[in-house]
Amino acid sequence: MSDEAGHQYTAAEALARLREGNGRFVRGEARFPTVQKEVLAALAKGQHPYATLLGCSDSRVPPELVFDAGFGELFIVRLAGNVLSPEVGGTLQYAGTHLKTPLFVVLGHEGCGAVQAALGKLRHGTTDRSRIEALLENIVPALRSVDPALPEDAQMRAAVEANVRWTVERIRETPEAQAREAEGIMRLVGAVYELSTGAVRFLDA
Ligand SMILES: [Zn+2]
Repeated sequence: MSDEAGHQYTAAEALARLREGNGRFVRGEARFPTVQKEVLAALAKGQHPYATLLGCSDSRVPPELVFDAGFGELFIVRLAGNVLSPEVGGTLQYAGTHLKTPLFVVLGHEGCGAVQAALGKLRHGTTDRSRIEALLENIVPALRSVDPALPEDAQMRAAVEANVRWTVERIRETPEAQAREAEGIMRLVGAVYELSTGAVRFLDA
């Protein structure tokens, strides 16, 4: 993984690496139990991650493990509900303009507590502590497309996916993302991690 330090993968190659890594993880064939000194020494000189990932803080969804990725491979933002705040936007902008990662992934997951709380707020007007409320305000608009007639578990699954798609669209609206996607040098995809199987389902990819 380090023998091509500085090598820039295309978005398609980066996506294939994530798919293959998640496949190894699901099969119990993960390759990176630890990191070697030579790898650390090479990485000390600089980082060239091939993918930027916006994921949830949930302890059950650690991205490097889920994608069987090593040190220096993934540039990651994690916060509850994988929402797009100004600070997250700044981090993604850094990844795009300075690290130039070819692939951006918004990774949601089954059973996301933040999405569940936002759904409760939307459906039943439930409230929480002020800063949690501020966080949920970022998710609620994404869930308006979820059919209230669906059974609760189906609503929850739809809500997780809707939240991912919403965040993808908000990122896609930025001038940088539009320019880089139009040039074909950057790809932005949504994905949902399944808690029970460990599999990542890429949306529209
Ligand atoms: Zn979550």
